[in-house]
Order: sequence, then C-alpha cells, then structure tokens
Amino acid sequence: RKKIGVLTSGGDASGMNACVRSVVLYGISKGCDVYAVYEGYQGNRGIQVDGECVLGVVVDGSLVDGGDYIRKMDWRSVTGYLSIGGTSIGTARCMPFKTREGRLQAAENLIKNGIDSLIVCGGDGSLTGADLFRSEWDGLVRELRGADRITQEEATTFKHLTIVGLVGSIDNDMSSTDITIGAVTSLHRICEAVDSVDTTALSHSRAFVIEVMGRHCGWLALMAGIATGADFVFIPEQPPSEDDWETAMCTVARRHRDLGKRKTIIIVAEGALDRHLKPIKVDHIKDVLTDRLGLDTRVTILGHTQRGGSPCAFDRILGTVQSIAAVDAVLASTPETPSPMIGMNNNKVTTKPLMDAVRLTHQVAEAIESQNFEKAMALRDPQFLD
Ligand code: ADP
Repeated sequence: RKKIGVLTSGGDASGMNACVRSVVLYGISKGCDVYAVYEGYQGNRGIQVDGECVLGVVVDGSLVDGGDYIRKMDWRSVTGYLSIGGTSIGTARCMPFKTREGRLQAAENLIKNGIDSLIVCGGDGSLTGADLFRSEWDGLVRELRGADRITQEEATTFKHLTIVGLVGSIDNDMSSTDITIGAVTSLHRICEAVDSVDTTALSHSRAFVIEVMGRHCGWLALMAGIATGADFVFIPEQPPSEDDWETAMCTVARRHRDLGKRKTIIIVAEGALDRHLKPIKVDHIKDVLTDRLGLDTRVTILGHTQRGGSPCAFDRILGTVQSIAAVDAVLASTPETPSPMIGMNNNKVTTKPLMDAVRLTHQVAEAIESQNFEKAMALRDPQFLD
C-alpha cells in the first residue's frame, strides 16, 4: 500500500487547499494512505520547543514523536477545503531544510513514518529543495543506515523516494508551465483593489502608483495593467528602454490626461528595474508625477491582501486536476523516472521533469541579471522545452 505525504511550502497561494483535498481524495480512491505533512518542511511553528523541526520531527529530538505534524488524512479531513484560501495544513520557510543535516533528519522522519512518496506544492524555492532532496536520497539513506538511525530493512524498503512537484505560487514565475496555482486568484484580488482605487482616483482626479507582488516576475503587474486599463506598467522583464524613463512615463500620462482622462494609474511590479537594473521605487514615481505633471499623487502598496481570500474557480480546478495528475505520477513512478513537475501548457495538464523546470527558472533570473531579456522570456516560455 502506497503511503503518500502531501505538503505545502513557501509562500501561500490560494488553491493549495484544492491540491491537498484532491491528493487526499484521489489518493484514497486509488488505495493509497495519504498523510498531510503540516507546516511545509518545517513542523514546529507556533509551538515553543528547542531546536528546529524538519518534516514533522524536531531536529534535536525534543519532540521526537512527530505524529503531530504528519497526520493520516481521511475522506472527512478535507471537508470544506475547496473554498478556503491559503493552506489549511500550514506552510513555512524552513532554514534547516537548506542544510544537509536538516534533509538527513527529514529523510529519517519520512522513513520512520513509512512515507516513500512526497507531493510538494510550492514555489520555485520549495521545488528546488524537493529536487535536491530526491537527488541526495541515496546518500541520505546510506548515511542514516551507517549511523544506525534506521534498520537495514528500512534502508532496503525506502531505497527510493518519489517526489512530485505542484507549482503553488501567486507569482506565476515557474518555467515550463503556463500558469501556477494561485496566480489567477491573486490577479483577481489586484483587479478588485485597483477598481476600488479607480473610483477615488476618478472622484479627485488623482494619480495612483500601485505596487503589486510578483518577486522577480512581472506577470501579475502586466496582467493587472491590461485588466484594469492602467496608464503605465513597470516590470522586471522589460525595463524602460530609455535612461530617462520618467519623461517617457510622463508623456504617456500627459497624453491620456489631454484626452480627458480624470485618473492616472501606474502599476509597478515589486521587482521592477530600470535599464541599469536599479530598482524602480514607487515613491520616486510619485514624486515625478507630482513635480512634473502637478498631479495629486498617492502610493498604494497592495501587500498581503493580494495573497488572501477564497480561491477563484480556476485555481480550484487547476489544483484539483493537477493533483490527480500528481497522484497518477506517483503511482506510475519507477526508480528511473526523473521527478516530475505537473504543469499546464496549452490548456492541457502536463508532466515534465522537475529538474529541468527548476534549472530553467534559475536561468531566467540569470538572464534578467545579465540584461538578456529576450532569453529570459524564451526560457520562461513553456514551448521552449517542447
Ligand atoms: P517558494 O517555494 O514560495 O519559492 P522559498 O523560496 O522561501 O519559497 O522556499 C521555501 C522553502 O523551500 C525554504 O524555506 C526551504 O525550506 C526550501 N528551499 C528553498 N530553496 C532551497 C534549496 N536551495 N535547497 C533546499 N531547500 C530549499
């Protein structure tokens, strides 16, 4: 009987609960035992204990039971999950998992709980960690056996770890998939917020500079700009082509005002850069609009409201169907199969090597740093792999 662990890690995203629900329900229907690993790779959030906890058990052994953080799920455990935002099994950023010692402990904890397959729903960082964990697994098991932390029988039974990645991220920044779980809900939140700002901007004939999330990716900012009819958008992938971007922005804003527009909306991705890769700051934009155009300008940083709220229908569906594919991938995996990442390309659920997606995602960041923006876009484009 297959024992599958499911965890959500890194930044929360609406639709992660749909993933957990779907893994649990479909996994059970396929005859598997499904365990939720609470709090991502970490497991002791909010509980005062000495030491750090990795995959369910505190590293220094002061909470060695671990049962609290790895819980067997049944059909009713996930009742109501579909409509709840964020992740009900918790998520965390776990520093120990970035160390080999932490991953060694994580391996021991999984083996002691009889789990040999892990479905990880998280962003670029979480999936990088998952990929590394699998690539080290052989050595980790040998080391645990050498130190007598697991029995020979356990070492033989848990010779292979199956990892399947689901991309949960509001940023839509993962290569090899068109869309990540949570991104569309976040975009909805941004649109609602910009619509609200619009009414006050129109009333007072004001300008608003609105900063949105996305880390190094401009997808949320760009799509929000299109969806709300913003006047100007700043994204990391396509910095303004001129040194004097302030004049370029003011020319557009002025033209729109001359056409009779009573509001000016500038959307800025949090990772926006100028052509010398210096961050573009919302307060600087505000000062430019105020000083050069005489506009009554305000800054609105949308912040964590963008992460919150009930998932939209699309993210519920995406989380559900991709997780079915994830369980199928676990059941089909062999020791030779590279760890898959479940994605979405051209409206179809796809299964691609996780390692490739992680590598390409890191290359996108490098390409942006070296100002090779065309290459960055090509690397992020899923067709690149096909
Ligand atoms: P996200 O998954 O949303 O991108 P992070 O980048 O913060 O979020 O990563 C979440 C967690 O994944 C980290 O706290 C850490 O436990 C694990 N992780 C991230 N990068 C690595 C890495 N290079 N090696 C091992 N674990 C990692």
